[in-house]
Amino acid sequence: MKSFHAFLRVAVLCALACVPAGQAQSAGAPEAHGIQLANMDRSLRPGDDFFRFANGEWIQRTEIPADREGVDVFTKLADTSNKRTADLIEEIAKSNPPAGSSERKVADLFNSYMDEAGIEAKGLSPLKPHLDAIAAIRDKKQLAHALGESLRADVDALNNTNFHTPNLFGLWVAPGFSDSEHYLPYLMQGGLQLPDREYYLSDSEHMKKLRTQYQAHIAAMLKLAGFPDAETRAKNILNLEHAIAQAHRSLPDNEDIHKANNPWTRADFSAKAPGLDWQEYFRAAGIGHVENFNVWQPEAFTGESALVASLPLETWKDWLAYHQIEASAGVLPKALGDERFAFFGKAMSGTEQQRPRWQRGVILVDALLGDVVGKRYAERYFSPEAKAQAQDMVTKLIAAFHQRIEALTWMNPSTKAEAQAKLSTLYVGVGYPETWHDYSNYEVKPDDAFGNFWRGNLSEYQRQVARLGKPVDRKEWSMTPQTVNAVNLPLQNALNFPAAILQPPFYDPKAPAAVNYGAIGSVIGHEISHTFDTEGSTFDSRGRLRNWWTPEDLKHFNAATARLAEQYDTYKPFPDLAVNGKQTLAENIADLAGLSAAYDGYKASLSGQTPPEQHGFSADQQFFIAFGQNWGEKVREAALRQQVMTDEHAPAEFRAATVRNIDAWYPAFTVKPGDKLYLAPPERARIW
Ligand SMILES: [Zn+2]
Repeated sequence: MKSFHAFLRVAVLCALACVPAGQAQSAGAPEAHGIQLANMDRSLRPGDDFFRFANGEWIQRTEIPADREGVDVFTKLADTSNKRTADLIEEIAKSNPPAGSSERKVADLFNSYMDEAGIEAKGLSPLKPHLDAIAAIRDKKQLAHALGESLRADVDALNNTNFHTPNLFGLWVAPGFSDSEHYLPYLMQGGLQLPDREYYLSDSEHMKKLRTQYQAHIAAMLKLAGFPDAETRAKNILNLEHAIAQAHRSLPDNEDIHKANNPWTRADFSAKAPGLDWQEYFRAAGIGHVENFNVWQPEAFTGESALVASLPLETWKDWLAYHQIEASAGVLPKALGDERFAFFGKAMSGTEQQRPRWQRGVILVDALLGDVVGKRYAERYFSPEAKAQAQDMVTKLIAAFHQRIEALTWMNPSTKAEAQAKLSTLYVGVGYPETWHDYSNYEVKPDDAFGNFWRGNLSEYQRQVARLGKPVDRKEWSMTPQTVNAVNLPLQNALNFPAAILQPPFYDPKAPAAVNYGAIGSVIGHEISHTFDTEGSTFDSRGRLRNWWTPEDLKHFNAATARLAEQYDTYKPFPDLAVNGKQTLAENIADLAGLSAAYDGYKASLSGQTPPEQHGFSADQQFFIAFGQNWGEKVREAALRQQVMTDEHAPAEFRAATVRNIDAWYPAFTVKPGDKLYLAPPERARIW
């Protein structure tokens, strides 16, 4: 929820086969510094369709490449970033780095993944010991052991927000809700391959069809791995996942912090979630010594644990084997990766072909050794001048927020004081982190793609477990510098703006200030405002879960935000599927608040001067058009449906439309009653 943008979230286990991307689009270099005139459709009235007014010509002329689920400003920049990263990896490999160095690991990891002939020659032999171990499970205690061994640090509730793990449960290590000075283990529901419970429970024809395809896919994967009776096993596995889905919490409820604050001691698990041998599970997971946990969805733990007891051992073993095959498909012979892509890429997202292998290799290195490459990336592509200028912009945006809070008439002084304190203690990371991850416990071998992948995920898990109970590093980053995104870390009261997003078209030191404030300024404002949104407002200036709002303030805030939720409920990207105003509320608040603060920051930066027109557009017009152009996007229908159902971010078109809540947008484009986006002043959502 806290990240700025949805597309680029790449789960480590998913990275190798199911996330489409493509060659850099040759959509033309950005024209002169400023708004992109050639992307606009000036035949449209901005008051009727601001998204297409700002992006219409670009949408017209853009083709979605076959290996993509969609293209937008973020994916175009990500192409640049991936290409640069690939070049850095190549340079590292050529430099023949010494054995044991991080650089050697980068070279060996990438090369082992690129060695397709070597991977084919090994066949299923790297997978075999794992499948043999599952086949040898004789009772539910041994099952609990295997389930415990599968636990990974592959979920993230509040930073890069990822509520999905195909393992039975997922671990997120983060500052504690009540003790934000120390790291606590958060355990989260899991066990599904499909993205969310709705994929199993929805009655829509689209979902029914996907489930039929999914069952066939499970059978195909089992067959490829040499299992007899694959059809029967596939049916049982789907039934098991269906039962797990019934126990799962829904996505909007996952985002409700107050429902997530459930401290459990280790002893609580057997009492509150009987069925799974928890002692064995924790022991196998290497956390048998840990006393205190937070369980995000207690009812799912109760439900899933009961299923471990009630369903046949053989069904669970088939489920484990299938999940093991699926998780490693990207580092196994091509037939498995292709079958995985046929379902998760084509059927699920509508993408026609896989990314080129080198790009998947870059994603793998980013996921498992991201900081090694990130350090070089920052040195080469993010100058001290760019950093200083971006920091200055952040400072102006924070000042704008201080003023907005001070000026609020509805907020009580006590609430204001804590809000200002939060803002004053906010850590803003610009470009790259101050310290880098240590990968010394990660063993990478030449010619062992499967093992490198396996050990990479395991060593990240062990790194996270080793931090439990230790003091929190508030300045730690949760994104690499080469990531085109931005993030708010509520438990650390911190923001990260990676180097890769601080470049054109978001940020161009040569562009007019109006354009930079409309583009990157609104991104920065978006992230700052998460500090005070429905979720951020539940954490105080030290990152503790604490209610610092008076009841009247909260009442006002909830009423104001409810109006915004209703506004988004009315948007219908498909006749049978509307945007969920509640599910996307925090992001929509952030967009609105970010744009408002960026506008203030921009006005303050002028020091009373009137900026010149450019291309016949006033500075205010440029500001809003630049914001609208952040959202230039073209997406396949299947992928858009998946986003509407599972993402906390509304589709780009409706994010651009939030300009209708800003008073200054109306005179800038002479928007009048009768225009489609027109809202009478009392109907405009005003939150900050
Ligand atoms: Zn956000």
